Amino acid sequence: MPELFGTNGVRGITNKELGPELALGLGKAIGTYFGRGKKILTARDVRAGGDMLIKAVESGLLSTGIRVYEAGQVPIPAHEYGVRRFGYDGGVVVTASHNPPEFNGIKVIQADGIEADVPTEEEIERIFFGQKFFAEEWRGLNYDTERDDRINGEYIRAVLSCVDVEKIKQRKFKIVIDGGNSVGSITMSVIAKALGCEVHEINAKQDPLFPARNPEPTPESLANTAKQAKKLGIDFGVAQDGDADRAVFIDSNGEVQHGDRAGVLLAYWVSQKEGGQPKTVVTPFSSSNLTEEFLTQRGIQTRWTRVGSRFVSRVLVKEGGIAGFEDNGGFIYPKHQYVRDGAMAFALMAEFLASESRTSAEIFGSLPKYYTSKIKVPFKKETDIAAVLSRVTDAYSGMGEVADTDDDGIKFSGKDFWFIVRRSGTEPVIRISVETRSEPMLRGIVERLKALVAEKNH
Ligand code: MG
Repeated sequence: MPELFGTNGVRGITNKELGPELALGLGKAIGTYFGRGKKILTARDVRAGGDMLIKAVESGLLSTGIRVYEAGQVPIPAHEYGVRRFGYDGGVVVTASHNPPEFNGIKVIQADGIEADVPTEEEIERIFFGQKFFAEEWRGLNYDTERDDRINGEYIRAVLSCVDVEKIKQRKFKIVIDGGNSVGSITMSVIAKALGCEVHEINAKQDPLFPARNPEPTPESLANTAKQAKKLGIDFGVAQDGDADRAVFIDSNGEVQHGDRAGVLLAYWVSQKEGGQPKTVVTPFSSSNLTEEFLTQRGIQTRWTRVGSRFVSRVLVKEGGIAGFEDNGGFIYPKHQYVRDGAMAFALMAEFLASESRTSAEIFGSLPKYYTSKIKVPFKKETDIAAVLSRVTDAYSGMGEVADTDDDGIKFSGKDFWFIVRRSGTEPVIRISVETRSEPMLRGIVERLKALVAEKNH
């Protein structure tokens, strides 16, 4: 795996680990990689330091003779859609997605609108560390950076074109949108209103300090939003992360639903909507067992991948499939584009619910019941993950087996439970996910894993 790039771009604490010098160098390396004369679209979310970092990246890109176009502050899926739709050679975004507010990041998008693959990132790092930057001759430098103001409008049109607007409008859904104080609010409410929804917005104002909640939409960070949603008597609600590629749903009882529970419903709906055979859904091994349990009964195959949305994207491109999703709320609808898209997931959910007479709480409540917990434990980047993993597998030996593994962690499966212990690719934490068939079992495993991971961890 590349050194600077994690599972989703370069991430670090703003102006400490990730400052203008690194951004400038990355801009030069990315520009050298794409090549002089190429057109690159830039964008960012609302994070503090975004303006500083994007200007440094653009300066680096310009020095290599790249033609830079700016989308400004837009949802990242809108940027990705714009890169492909308007024929850019690539894109660069300054965002740290769901990470805590003090983080920022830089991510490369390829011409197909998908996050750069590992070989591309390795090549960019080789240029960066070798300082093999191309320097454009003075007379060839871009005269003036242009702005591309078509991105949000075209994106909204594209999302709406994928669903039956009239059918959804008839239901006059009462909804809550929690934009998490970032770029999601810019387009989500426009889309919801076009779908005839009565919209109640929470955390809609863009704010680089994320005063209301952590940018990661989880049952914990959305507790307040869920409470308000219940009081309002909504049909359903949706919450986004910092770059707006995730959609986490709240049902009519005010319950925050994990992304894989919404994912199977949306995947099922897409299969109904589109018909045809064969049907495959792509999801990382961090998703619930309910995925297979629910989808197999409905004639849909599950294709498991390693953790990271871009792996889901690439499998969808290569092998085909009707949808892809993650347990964190990322949903990919390939008919629209091959990347996670929060607003697209929302529009599909509205269309699915419009085809149902049951309430959203009844529908989510009808899914197979599993008990899940997802927690983060602080972890130093340089600490040996292998030692942690062998401690964990030793402790559970004889109770199951390692069912899947990648560079950063393992999935361990036993009777009536599985867990994942995995180093985050985007922040210095270990993520522990546990799924069981009973609540006491869940609590026991979570406590034991927390202790095992924390041991000698500093
Ligand atoms: Mg995100």
